[in-house]
Amino acid sequence: MNGHILPGVPIAVDCFQQKTIGRVKFYFLSHMHADHTVGLTSKWNQPIYCSQITGRLLQHKYNISAHLIEVLEPSQPHLLSHKDRKLTVHMLDANHCPGSCMFFFETENSKILYTGDFRFDKGIPTEFKNIYNRLKPIDLLYLDNTYCEPTCVFPNRDEAVKMITDICEQHPEHRVYVGTSWVGHEDLLEKLSANLKEYVFVDSDFFSRLQLLEVVDVFKTGSSSRLNAVPNSKLTCSSIAEWNKEMPTIGIKPTAMFGGQCTTGSKSAGMLHCVPYSNHCNFLELTEFVKLVAPKHIKPIVPGRKYKSGMESMFRADMRQLDNYLCITEENTDFQTKSDNLKSGMNKKENLQQVQYKKHQGKVKRKVIKHKSKPYSRGVNFFNEHDKNTKARKCAKESLQIEIESEIVRNCHELFQDFFTKGNR
Ligand SMILES: [Zn+2]
Repeated sequence: MNGHILPGVPIAVDCFQQKTIGRVKFYFLSHMHADHTVGLTSKWNQPIYCSQITGRLLQHKYNISAHLIEVLEPSQPHLLSHKDRKLTVHMLDANHCPGSCMFFFETENSKILYTGDFRFDKGIPTEFKNIYNRLKPIDLLYLDNTYCEPTCVFPNRDEAVKMITDICEQHPEHRVYVGTSWVGHEDLLEKLSANLKEYVFVDSDFFSRLQLLEVVDVFKTGSSSRLNAVPNSKLTCSSIAEWNKEMPTIGIKPTAMFGGQCTTGSKSAGMLHCVPYSNHCNFLELTEFVKLVAPKHIKPIVPGRKYKSGMESMFRADMRQLDNYLCITEENTDFQTKSDNLKSGMNKKENLQQVQYKKHQGKVKRKVIKHKSKPYSRGVNFFNEHDKNTKARKCAKESLQIEIESEIVRNCHELFQDFFTKGNR
């Protein structure tokens, strides 16, 4: 679960546990991805503040009664009152998926910005301009830390669309299946459709959501011999092998989750292409955003996770790596939000990447200890922009096997296998 109850105010964002009712007066939903809606069911009976599109999807997915949906207008101040206390909230576009938004909360004493999942690119600064002065200084920033790690280098979405288009054009006789999340890949599919001059075929569930989003021009229901969208969970090496028995087929997994990982393609040509298209910020965008906002404190939205395989270690939730961009003030003690020391979660016995933090002249430095083992997943081509000058870029262009020598080597073999055989995300 990626939700939080905010400190000092009776507000929960993306947190819908029954036990919070009574303690929380106002429930906010940033967007409709499943890791942000944990606890919601058709029995939910509290008002939910969200964008108009999220409201529509909320009714569609959970059958939540329309009278419980409190639609917020973008960039407008909304006043909430509770026990003589006044609270203002602004909703800002998060540029993550249809309906996604950030929330900016202001009381007499504090300012809190909750990003939800977001991508900080050309769209967001305009949104921020309207309330920029109010944003400063922010006491507490809840940050989408999905890719908060210096090795998370991946291209913007337009470049990633170009990479996907190139792959499709290199396979003119193939049927293409693009993996999609429940909501969030519509824009990619529309652009791909325009580039390839092909309709995108989707299942009826996907099509009914598209109707709610009012984007149906390039979509058709059913399947085609060229461009199809499927839920990510159905796009695995084994499903592609099955589809290949019918006709030549490739799969495209748009995700940056392998950015910065050491990934080596299999020896035989893979038919599943992993391209770093992401609706989350890369590390550079995250640092630019934090510099702009210059909060006093940062709290990670996504908790540190430790997978069995050790693929995703804990330090993406360690906000000390952004300490240099904080606004330093005398009264920085209101929110004790400096990230937990997650070193304790890193077990040396496991093959986790081991990271050591050292404070030097006020700067946090990270020492990375490399491992020798190289994870790989059979039958998968990784298109990874870890470094534009590395072999990865060159190989991607030439549609050859990928061999990426990342500066960070992790043992993520197990998770890769899960991901590509069971389609677990
Ligand atoms: Zn999301």
